[in-house]
Amino acid sequence: MTLSNLLFAVILAVALGFFARSARRLARWLKIGHAEVRTDHPDVRTRNFLLIGIGQSKILRDPIGGMMHALVFWGFCVLGLGTLEIMIQGLYTPFTWNVILPRFLYLPYVLSQELFAVFVLIPVAFLLYRRLVIKPKRFHVDPVHGGDAVFILSMIAALMVSLLILFAAELQAGTSSADWRVISPMIQSLMRGWSPETAHVVARSAWWFHAVLILYFLNHLPGSKHLHVLTSLINVWFSNTSGPGRVGAMRPMDLEAEDAEQFGASDVEHLSWKNLLDGYSCTECGRCTAVCPANITGKALSPRMIVVKTRARLTEKAMVLDAMGLGGTATDEQQTMLDRKLLDGFITEEELWACTSCRACVQECPVSIDQLDIINELRRDLVLMESRFPEELQPAMTSLERNGSPWAFSASDREQWAEGMDIPTMAEMAARGEKADIMFWVGCMGSFDDRAKKITVAFARILQAANVKFAILGQEETCHGDPARRMGNEYLYQMLAKGVIETLNGYEVKTIVTFCPHCFHQMGKEFPDLGGNYEVIHHTEYIERLLEAGRVPLETEHGQRLKVAYHDSCYLGRYNEIYDAPRNTLKKALPIIELVEPARTKSRGMCCGAGGGRMWMEENVGKRVNVERSEELLATGADQIAVACPFCMTMITDGVTGAGSDVPVLDIAEVVAGRLASATVSA
Ligand code: SF4
Ligand code: SF4
Repeated sequence: MTLSNLLFAVILAVALGFFARSARRLARWLKIGHAEVRTDHPDVRTRNFLLIGIGQSKILRDPIGGMMHALVFWGFCVLGLGTLEIMIQGLYTPFTWNVILPRFLYLPYVLSQELFAVFVLIPVAFLLYRRLVIKPKRFHVDPVHGGDAVFILSMIAALMVSLLILFAAELQAGTSSADWRVISPMIQSLMRGWSPETAHVVARSAWWFHAVLILYFLNHLPGSKHLHVLTSLINVWFSNTSGPGRVGAMRPMDLEAEDAEQFGASDVEHLSWKNLLDGYSCTECGRCTAVCPANITGKALSPRMIVVKTRARLTEKAMVLDAMGLGGTATDEQQTMLDRKLLDGFITEEELWACTSCRACVQECPVSIDQLDIINELRRDLVLMESRFPEELQPAMTSLERNGSPWAFSASDREQWAEGMDIPTMAEMAARGEKADIMFWVGCMGSFDDRAKKITVAFARILQAANVKFAILGQEETCHGDPARRMGNEYLYQMLAKGVIETLNGYEVKTIVTFCPHCFHQMGKEFPDLGGNYEVIHHTEYIERLLEAGRVPLETEHGQRLKVAYHDSCYLGRYNEIYDAPRNTLKKALPIIELVEPARTKSRGMCCGAGGGRMWMEENVGKRVNVERSEELLATGADQIAVACPFCMTMITDGVTGAGSDVPVLDIAEVVAGRLASATVSA
């Protein structure tokens, strides 16, 4: 071992020692959060890891910036092998992979190092240019750590440049072969005239610079916004936002746990370790905030800041606890910091109640962070622990408790829409000893709201025209509690949901069809946690199946050519990935339509503004979300706007009217029912 090897061994040991200490500290801080099992469905997790983590599928949704980031990531993966070679060389200078690898593997390795050094350098230059010159809006909506990003990018650039200089100088010094080298010979041409000794000194200097910078980089990461370089792949594997099987389902809550003194979260110790890992993994890219309907329309909410503030609070609290040590007493200043909470101290009520639960942030996050989970947990604390919520929510909650509906209607009004339609209830069918093929779940909007009742009637007509044997619950139907759950009132939700499950199980219901995406999601995805297991089908999919089977008699006359814009419901699209069925149904029902897409569509579709309990809240700050979305839909020049959700129906109709337009807004069931063969309609 030479003196140089010895010196490097000391530097390496110190650097790895510091890094291990930082890593242990970060892992210890995660334990401040509560336990949560995230090792189920290893197959789905591994697929997410490969697709989202290694394949960078989510970051590539942004074709230019995404490709640049992906190249840097892939470059780092490939260059990792070269870094290992450099570290071993530090301890034993003559080492190269050539010693271990056969030539047919070594030469591609040499090529990969040269090419990826350039592949990383180009996007880094682009990203620096974007940050310093273009400055996209999402970087300065709520600027955080902007300087650190520039510092890190500059460091990566320096690593790549030093690597290329090293390769070229080694060539000039004659200490490496030119086989399969494509970039370094070009750089070497700039070194013509250098003696082998000079080139050797330059190569060694570049080597030391590169090796020490890597070790510095490693130790800079744990305290910087680029901590995600170390944690994002782990985060993707542990994430539930892209599966497994519970996309969009709210975290179950055991209200009967004997030792439960806290419901929801007011501080970091009430969140799970995974929520805290989300904080470590945030790249602060702002993709979530750029698509947040609340933020876009001027509200205080920024999902990026929800995650960044969670990390900031964790760091603050953990550092105080570390400084105090076991059994230590807090100074006044430390006590003030300990008394502060994530809720109010960092994240305000105003931010939390602005959320429409649309999941656009979750969908867009390249490292599978669940911003909405943190929002939901904080809302639960506000409602269940502190009874703090917008006063407009009180009537809805009271009515849910008293009437089993967020609106103060009597249960006897539930089946008024069905008068004269000869639709049996489940009870009537059971009394006749018959079984329905499907149960039509009407929902509270479909039962009580005058506009939504037209959708109910339209869908029932389609079912009758297709000779489907169906029944409704009628007066036995009550709200399943989804609005209460989204508002943070888990008690009320579970009370209502359990009541509905009891009713459904009493009739041994197997298949439910509904036209409300909120009912569809709640009963299909969240009821299983409470023991309710049913096949739940959204009406757009059900109508599509009926049309495909040729069971719906439609007018053969095509009539006027129509340009139709379809608005994706968040709970149908992002929550349940149903994008094609509504469009296919429209095309089948109206063979001469031209389907036009708004600027934001499908998984990027913009919320109507009604979700997350916002339907019952005032919207006094900024532009109204439904107006923003309706203007976008109208900008398509459509003759008709189609929706597949009664909540979207209300919001978009209001938005269109507010924009002074008379473009009709129709549910897909109404579009199909409007084309039923006249004999069927009159029947
Ligand atoms: S769920 Fe929607 S409204 Fe809520 S923070 Fe995310 S993007 Fe914004
Ligand atoms: S939460 Fe995800 S999308 Fe939002 S800033 Fe962080 S990494 Fe980007």
